Amino acid sequence: MEILNQFNSHVTALSKSPTLKITALAKKLKKEGKDIINFAAGEPDFDTPDFIKQAAKDALDQGFTKYTPSSGAPELKAGIVEKLQNENSLGYTPENILVTTGAKFSVFLGIFALIEKDSEIILPEPYWVSYPEMAKIAGAKVRTLPTHRENGFKIDPKKLAAAITARSKLIILNYPSNPTGVTYTESELKALWDVIKDSNLWVLSDEIYEHILFDKRTHTSFAALNKEAYNRTITVNGFSKCFSMTGWRLGYIAAPVKFVQEASKMIDHTTSGANSIAQKAACVALAKGQEWTGHIKKIFQERRDLLFESLSGHPSLSPLKPQGTFYLFCDISQSGLSAYDFASRLLDTHSVAVIPSEGFGIEGYIRISFATSTEQIKEGARRIKEFMDNL
Ligand code: PMP
Ligand code: GLU
Repeated sequence: MEILNQFNSHVTALSKSPTLKITALAKKLKKEGKDIINFAAGEPDFDTPDFIKQAAKDALDQGFTKYTPSSGAPELKAGIVEKLQNENSLGYTPENILVTTGAKFSVFLGIFALIEKDSEIILPEPYWVSYPEMAKIAGAKVRTLPTHRENGFKIDPKKLAAAITARSKLIILNYPSNPTGVTYTESELKALWDVIKDSNLWVLSDEIYEHILFDKRTHTSFAALNKEAYNRTITVNGFSKCFSMTGWRLGYIAAPVKFVQEASKMIDHTTSGANSIAQKAACVALAKGQEWTGHIKKIFQERRDLLFESLSGHPSLSPLKPQGTFYLFCDISQSGLSAYDFASRLLDTHSVAVIPSEGFGIEGYIRISFATSTEQIKEGARRIKEFMDNL
């Protein structure tokens, strides 16, 4: 056999990440001097705040440059335990925590630690692009659970009950959601729990956007619902979105001790643990970051309002008002184009980069990131409307 065709079939089955691909393209075009509006970015436009950077500089000066324990530096795990207690009413000890190289790797560990060949993952749709691809790497089957605009893109507990089979092992929840910006109230989560409790499902609850919530909404962690939910939930969180630390690659898991013991072996034999300097800086992000998260939430809400109002004014665009995150999901089906064609032509003709919805498992939408300045939002919205008018 031709040597260049001999790859792991789980890997050849993967797609490139459309979010990373389009974001990189938009950044490249901008660097080349093109007048690009980057509505693709899955990262805050703010620089990492100075107090966090300073902590990293201090860590370097103090020689904190060696391997940390593979499951995370003790001081960071202690900080995460305190944060989960204070902000999420979750009682954990450091034995429940795993620090990882980005929250993406936390999600991956969650899937890989639990999934065996032919196990099923229940994935509410639209979903974040990487979940089904990670499932493919693990050899899992994905059973998508479509949600609909009419129900605010929320999971219908009855449909969830119908989707569970004897092979279902894990459900992935993500709220506030990438890409819809939708979140769940405590009573909505309880309604899901009422179904899950009668199954053998683990819950992977990806709460990475928890602080970016609008209109005075509050966040409830799935594991905080009750003791039984706590015992079968893997909470994933990280520093990328709420502390503008995407490039630092730091995330974490909070889960039952047995899960942590099993999953930590994978860290031992893959990454050996997260970057030591980033971990030291993250301790300070947790200890002193409340003012910062309040500040960005306010800014994102102002931008959300600006973008939503400006797109709502157009008769053929139907934006969904985000409850959180920095993404707005907009129905473009009246254009008559597929989301992919809409996004490609918008970039070609009007230099606006957005993410088409196919990668999120749904047709007819674009994801518009408002992690950019108000000037860019105004101009970008103007161009999208002009594009729509000229079709
Ligand atoms: N979960 C969701 C829903 C995300 O949007 C992201 C962003 N990439 C991640 C997890 C992973 O974040 P990171 O690896 O940058 O910590
Ligand atoms: N989560 C972000 C996004 O959805 C960052 C890119 C990625 O990790 O896929 O755009």
